[in-house]
Amino acid sequence: MKEITIIGGGLSGLAASCYLAKSNFKVKIIDKNETMGGRLSSFEIDGFKFDYGPSWYWMPDVFEDFFNEFDKEVSDYYDLKRLNPSYKFFFEKSNHIIPSKFSNIKKEYEKIENNSSIKLDEFINRGEKKYKISMNGFIDLPNLSFREYFSIDVLKYFFSLDFFISLRKHIKKYFSNTKIIQMLEFPSMFLGGTPSNTPGLYSLMNYADLKGGTWYPMGGMIEVTKAFTNLSLELGVEHINNIEIKKLMIDNSSIVEAKSSIGKNFKSDFFLCCAEYPFVQNNLIEKKYRTYSRNYWSKRKVAPSALIFYLGLSEKIKNFEHHNLFFDNDFDKHLDEIFVQKKWPEDPLFYVCCPSKTDSSTVPSPKHENLFILVPIGSGSLDEEKIRNIYFKKILRRIESKVKQKIEDKIIFKKSFCVNDFKNRYNAYNGNAYGLANTLFQTAIFKPKMKDAKIKNLYYSGHFTVPGPGLPPAIISGKIASKQIIKDAQI
Ligand SMILES: Cc1cc2nc3c(=O)[nH]c(=O)nc-3n(C[C@H](O)[C@H](O)[C@H](O)COP(=O)(O)OP(=O)(O)OC[C@H]3O[C@@H](n4cnc5c(N)ncnc54)[C@H](O)[C@@H]3O)c2cc1C
Repeated sequence: MKEITIIGGGLSGLAASCYLAKSNFKVKIIDKNETMGGRLSSFEIDGFKFDYGPSWYWMPDVFEDFFNEFDKEVSDYYDLKRLNPSYKFFFEKSNHIIPSKFSNIKKEYEKIENNSSIKLDEFINRGEKKYKISMNGFIDLPNLSFREYFSIDVLKYFFSLDFFISLRKHIKKYFSNTKIIQMLEFPSMFLGGTPSNTPGLYSLMNYADLKGGTWYPMGGMIEVTKAFTNLSLELGVEHINNIEIKKLMIDNSSIVEAKSSIGKNFKSDFFLCCAEYPFVQNNLIEKKYRTYSRNYWSKRKVAPSALIFYLGLSEKIKNFEHHNLFFDNDFDKHLDEIFVQKKWPEDPLFYVCCPSKTDSSTVPSPKHENLFILVPIGSGSLDEEKIRNIYFKKILRRIESKVKQKIEDKIIFKKSFCVNDFKNRYNAYNGNAYGLANTLFQTAIFKPKMKDAKIKNLYYSGHFTVPGPGLPPAIISGKIASKQIIKDAQI
């Protein structure tokens, strides 16, 4: 029986552990934190339950397909609810609620721009085509060599499906109203880039959003981690927490041992790192064995970091939905400040999740409210308590003016999370929130390779390799990496 050590118990590591255990590997998964889940973990305090990071559950088919591969269903583990409305946009002078039903979304669009409902049909049909082609062949490729693309009809796909124009240009071919454009551009933030450097291919995300729907696992996003953890344990995987891997000992171009923080060391035939790729290369591997230098990483376009506030309120907020996007300031200015000028955004756009609108288990009682506020900021931004406080006040004033309700004196719990916490909790490169941006030259074959070029028994999964940032890609990444290991183990 082959043995494998997985370093990092985020969603990609957990998914990989299941595939490997099913293929008769003896699997150990080690995480430095107190629980598995990585960015998809949570904390509870005084009856408030907060997810640390992800709050959007898109592409439910990816989660369902994963469990089906183990003769299970999502419903065996958690109760998934489709949100209606899907989300709400706060603009400078108007608000728009995006309903879950596509026919109702079209009506909402028509209110903003004449004939936009017909255009939306065309735009989404094209997005659907991209989604289906991607999901049925392209997304599962390990991207180790261009040769993979010769066997399937992907070259045609590259040229015909908007790979070489930006998402922004692609959207503007259909729509001219700024609000509509922004409503379709916002998913590019989930991919770590901007609408101008994200390829038009990713309008597949608009299809996933507007047709596939926005979902929520009752109990919180943490239910997903619990489900993956339980399945992994059911399959016989050994879970080890509170142990940090500090060094990978290499002999004859193979890892012979992973040294840990507490002196306990781990040996196995294979190693899969779900801890961030740059962290592993820069910190765990001796320089002569590194495929990618520090300089290489410093030149990549990395996803933003975030300033996050977790708030427990003693009162309900009337004008919020479950997901709320504040686009009441200049989107391009914000993007320019965080990606180009690399400074704190002056008047940031931000996002507020209010899970207690859907799920009373996230609050101590039905009269309380649970808020998660996320401000995208540049990775590597200076993180000081003083700056966090300035932004907290700025954001709170903006929220209060939009929802027309005083909030500050209703706060009974407050915690913040920013660049330094990303570094400390996840070993996140420059304190980024979700990995390598999916820009044109950082997509597919251009991503750091999931099989190490210099170390024979080392592999990577997660949001610095294929397919990219986000929970569904994390699941798929774990799947691709494990399939590659299973294949290589048979040679
Ligand atoms: C604030 C925020 C909001 C997000 N929102 C969404 C969303 O709404 N929807 C969505 O789909 N995605 C969202 N994402 C993205 C998504 O969470 C990530 O892309 C995904 O969870 C990454 O999974 P992973 O397995 O690659 O990495 P991680 O979850 O980071 O897992 C890596 C693990 O490795 C561990 N580790 C690191 N170093 C070591 C070491 N030396 N030894 C042992 N263990 C180690 C870490 O503790 C961590 O548990 C969000 C991310 C953030 C941060």
